[in-house]
Amino acid sequence: MAVQFVCPSCSNPIEIDDAWGGKQVACPYCHNTVTAPIESTYQPSAEIPMAQPGGYPPPAPLGYPPQQVAPAKTGNAIAVWALVLSISWLVISIGTSMIAAPAMLEAFGDTEPSMSDMQRYTQEKVQGGEIEPWLLVLMAGGCTSLLVWVGGLVCAIIALTRPARRKMTIVAFGFLALFPLQLVAGFLL
Ligand SMILES: [Zn+2]
Repeated sequence: MAVQFVCPSCSNPIEIDDAWGGKQVACPYCHNTVTAPIESTYQPSAEIPMAQPGGYPPPAPLGYPPQQVAPAKTGNAIAVWALVLSISWLVISIGTSMIAAPAMLEAFGDTEPSMSDMQRYTQEKVQGGEIEPWLLVLMAGGCTSLLVWVGGLVCAIIALTRPARRKMTIVAFGFLALFPLQLVAGFLL
């Protein structure tokens, strides 16, 4: 036996198994949880959809295709993170170089040090235990930007496996690609 009644929220006719009479059920139309009557209060003229117990996802109304669960949402968030992290990496890298550059040039006698010069200099200062503020900024900025870059890369790779936000993911990869290019340029120049 089925109990048929009109949803008190949206006034659509719904049907439940009589085992759920007097209990909380989810309306398949408005998705509100409503209390079902014990006996039918509605006389149908056509077939009406059956509601499921409250807390379960409501079935699609009869005659409609079943609703598809959208998988894109998590992909969207990951792609946004990839973009945010890749831009943050760029900002941190440029920011720390701009802050440290004047003092660094002064330390090297107004000539831009090569990457090996910088490594030797940093090693000496760290071993000597007298790290200048500009070197500290450069080191902290380098570590932070590396972490952010790795995070951005992981998000971009995950986003690539999802169908969502392709363009955003590609832009993120574009920013992230600047780091290996910068490294290669640093070794070549
Ligand atoms: Zn309803």
